[in-house]
Amino acid sequence: MRAKAGVKQTPEIQYAGTGLSSKDFKEGKILCTRWTADAKYAWDAGIAIGKYLAGFKAGKILGVRCIKCGRTMVPPRAFCEWCFKTVDSWVQLRNTGIVNTFSLCYVTWDVKRVKKPEISAVIEIDGASKGMGIMHLLGEVDPNKVRIGMKVKAIWKPAAEREGAITDIKYWKPY
Ligand SMILES: [Zn+2]
Repeated sequence: MRAKAGVKQTPEIQYAGTGLSSKDFKEGKILCTRWTADAKYAWDAGIAIGKYLAGFKAGKILGVRCIKCGRTMVPPRAFCEWCFKTVDSWVQLRNTGIVNTFSLCYVTWDVKRVKKPEISAVIEIDGASKGMGIMHLLGEVDPNKVRIGMKVKAIWKPAAEREGAITDIKYWKPY
């Protein structure tokens, strides 16, 4: 380490970065304790997303309406961010939509290369206001034929396999 002229170096700074060795641990020069975490987690999705997820379990895509701005929003929220007021009502949307944008992904979420791309897309849900959509996957489609504006429909898991999650829809396919 190069000392600046006129700056007094303390020993801690001078030796900063000295590595520990296994010998240091064995000889007890290092204080070390081990423990196993026993942490339990609970996560509350909140009023709006909680009802949205329950809707998936029932095979329904739910949105909310705001009377003031006239928007039908999905994913639902408790509060209209345009009007600064609580939303007015719930509405069941259709199981169809259009591809707003998409991406051909040649790596999985945990960064493994794949030959057949996973196609993630933002799907504008029919019955919601223009531009209101959800991120999901496309399936049963030639990657070279996916287009913005393509009409798609939700392919649901069987009712017994649904668990109240976005993955209760397996994917969206053109129709
Ligand atoms: Zn509004």
